[in-house]
Amino acid sequence: MQNNGGFNIKARISKIFSSIQGEGILIGTRQVFVRFSGCNLNCNYCDTPLSRDPDYGNEFDIKTLHEKINDIITPDFHSISLTGGEPLLHADFIKNFLENYNLPTLLETNGSLPSEIAKLTELVDYVSLDIKLPEHEAVSDWDDLMNKELESIKILIEEGINTYCKLVVQPSTQAVTVSSIAARIKDEIPNTSRLPLVVQPSSPLDLWAGKTQKLLEISEKAGEHLNVLTIPQVHKLLKLK
Ligand code: SF4
Repeated sequence: MQNNGGFNIKARISKIFSSIQGEGILIGTRQVFVRFSGCNLNCNYCDTPLSRDPDYGNEFDIKTLHEKINDIITPDFHSISLTGGEPLLHADFIKNFLENYNLPTLLETNGSLPSEIAKLTELVDYVSLDIKLPEHEAVSDWDDLMNKELESIKILIEEGINTYCKLVVQPSTQAVTVSSIAARIKDEIPNTSRLPLVVQPSSPLDLWAGKTQKLLEISEKAGEHLNVLTIPQVHKLLKLK
């Protein structure tokens, strides 16, 4: 059913393109990526710095966005990926878009905005939630960010959304740091023992030469608590967007 109330809402989007998902449990699927502008964090490994700028890109209303997506959908289309930046800074726009255009959807979020994620639980099919480490320097108050990420995961699990967590590790990352976060998720949120935790080695992979033993150590320690998968950014290996 169409909800005409939302057709005038606009959001700034830095890029819309079709490619292959190169991260997480939907790796290899063909998606249309909608990269929203603006982010509330400042991670030191951020690979989309332009999208962090809230003024970058163009404004879209939901009808124009739908037309643009339709223009580039391919026969192998799996889903749209709402990414950024931080897409949940535009949660009301996304809610209106998905209420009017029912498309299979992956939401890629930093998990820092639980009240915004709660607006979309009936509308998204998959959620990729990034967990930030203190060494990512995403915010000044890491404990507060971690608590918000836990709250977001709890909301998604309670609502039965197909969710996975993603954690970027660097050669300097300590296995105990990842393991203690995995333990908190399992201990503080019911029904998370099979929750996928995608450990994503930072790009470029050359930085890992001679250091990949660390990835096995991280997997073993975090695997005591969650369902760990170690997956690098495949789209970068394929030189895709
Ligand atoms: S949350 Fe994502 S978009 Fe925002 S700064 Fe971190 S890596 Fe970049």
